[in-house]
Amino acid sequence: MANEKKHYACPNCNTKLPLKRIFLLNNNSEVTCDKCGYVARPEKMGMWYIGTTFFAVVIPGQIVLWQKGSFIEAVAIGLSVGVVVYGAILVYVYNKVKFY
Ligand SMILES: [Zn+2]
Repeated sequence: MANEKKHYACPNCNTKLPLKRIFLLNNNSEVTCDKCGYVARPEKMGMWYIGTTFFAVVIPGQIVLWQKGSFIEAVAIGLSVGVVVYGAILVYVYNKVKFY
């Protein structure tokens, strides 16, 4: 299993790419490998994840605002749900997106 491709790794030397770069990863990202200097690009991910995060924040927020009339609570709940969804998306990207 020595040649098995790792997740979120340099396609050239198979070293893990800098994890901090995942937070702002998009289709135009270039992640430079710490070890060999290879500039890796993620495969096309589509824009679904930005839309998903947006709706995950806006929809719960809107529901709370509509039911309770509290803007502060709406923002707090919207952001809480958004953070959870964003976290789930990062895990997905980490495990699924391939670099070339
Ligand atoms: Zn490398």
